[in-house]
Amino acid sequence: MLSTIRLSLVACVTLTSLLFHPTTARVIPIDPTTNQLVPRANGQLNIYINTADPSVAGIRNDARPRITEGAKDAVIMARLACALMMLENYEGLYERYFESPPLNDDEDNDDEDDDQEEEEDGGGQDEAGVDPARKQFVQTVFCAIAGITPECSINDIFTQRGTNPKLDGLTYSVGKYPGIEDHDRNFEHDAVYAATLYQDILTEYNIGNTDDAAIMEIHRRAFDFPNIEDIFENRGCQALGAADSGLMTTLGAHILHELVHWHHLTRTPENGHIYNQLITHDVYKPNENGEEVEETHDYIDDYDRDEYDDKDLDPPDGYGPQHAHQLVVNDEQDSFRNADNYRWFAVSLYWH
Ligand SMILES: [Zn+2]
Repeated sequence: MLSTIRLSLVACVTLTSLLFHPTTARVIPIDPTTNQLVPRANGQLNIYINTADPSVAGIRNDARPRITEGAKDAVIMARLACALMMLENYEGLYERYFESPPLNDDEDNDDEDDDQEEEEDGGGQDEAGVDPARKQFVQTVFCAIAGITPECSINDIFTQRGTNPKLDGLTYSVGKYPGIEDHDRNFEHDAVYAATLYQDILTEYNIGNTDDAAIMEIHRRAFDFPNIEDIFENRGCQALGAADSGLMTTLGAHILHELVHWHHLTRTPENGHIYNQLITHDVYKPNENGEEVEETHDYIDDYDRDEYDDKDLDPPDGYGPQHAHQLVVNDEQDSFRNADNYRWFAVSLYWH
């Protein structure tokens, strides 16, 4: 199995040149004067650098090549996950990050919701205790990010050019993007988080003329992480160790996490029926007066036990390989709603 993965990796690496073309042109997809989305040439990333933002000092020269490489790494990890799930070659990692098979039939007391879900999906669980419809859902999320039609053959995957055309609507922003009102956004936020995705931007921020556009702010902290090539060149795979850990995290892995949040990208005709059922959920957040208000999130979220009203449960959040796995143990439905479960599944597949 290892040799299959190695072969896939080689194929992925040779694909790198097919995915993106280098660009020096600064392309901003939303024209601030007309508020219209500007189409970009195929293969170019939209990267906006806010030089007026003091947090950008010291990273602005490196930002464009680092993000271009990181975006490529993200798509390659998604492409590999999509392909290996097609081959059923994921060495138990799907179960680790999404859905543990029940130990025995008596444990399957998950109430009527699940039974109903299985009927609606026309699925039910296979011999290993994994719901094939949910597994296919996870695969279509990765295939969508990678720009692959799930019915493709393996050969198609490794010869296909280009990325998902929906990515044309994405702008990477280094520093604060003008017009986004985010009251959570402060220096502390940038120090803790590597990146933030703003989606449905017309509705939320009145930027652009379409909800097909999104802004991904790449914060200063993201640049502390290497690209995949840096790991190969400077440390080597052996230095990563056997267990999933932060040593495997790259700038591209953070970009992949944010792309998982973007429902316009990850909700597809193939997974739409299960997306609404599995992903849409209510959270509870304090408003300006400190009162808890209910919000409906229809995208793959970041688990937060306070927002889920799971205050006595560990982990407190779903970040990192241990917390992501713990969500599967607690309530596996949370694992499908947590972006880092997708990130760590793909990262782990890549390095093992
Ligand atoms: Zn997130």
